[in-house]
Amino acid sequence: MRISAVLVSALGILAAAPMTPASADVQMLSPYDVADPAVGNLDPALLLAVQRAADAAAAQGITMTITSGWRSPEFQQQLLNDAIATYGSFAAARQYVQTPERSRHVLGQAVDMGGVGADQWLIANGVRFGLCQIYANELWHFELATDAAGNCPPLLPNAAV
Ligand SMILES: [Zn+2]
Repeated sequence: MRISAVLVSALGILAAAPMTPASADVQMLSPYDVADPAVGNLDPALLLAVQRAADAAAAQGITMTITSGWRSPEFQQQLLNDAIATYGSFAAARQYVQTPERSRHVLGQAVDMGGVGADQWLIANGVRFGLCQIYANELWHFELATDAAGNCPPLLPNAAV
């Protein structure tokens, strides 16, 4: 992943290219793997929404996994450091990785989803469960973010805004 990211950056199309979550920390957890702190430390409302969405997706043949959920502040800082090394600057890295102070993952209020077709399924159907894509450049990152009318907010271009 790091090599391909560097190549993409060298081609100057970094901002346009959908990137997968940074680096080697990607996991494939079930939303029911609550013994793992990445799942078990999620906000209970978010965890329930993800479990319900995963059940509905499974009924349509789509296996939904959590590639990253709750993160310790130390782990978030490590991801940011890795991204700075990958993208060459703090400003560039911040388009993909939040600081520990701002990360919703550290609060247990964000999940990165994996599984073939899972992100597209959630983008289309997640709103039924309160789950919204937040960043235009992160197809896999979801938070409970619907408003009182049940609508998701407009996409932000990236995590740096
Ligand atoms: Zn995320």
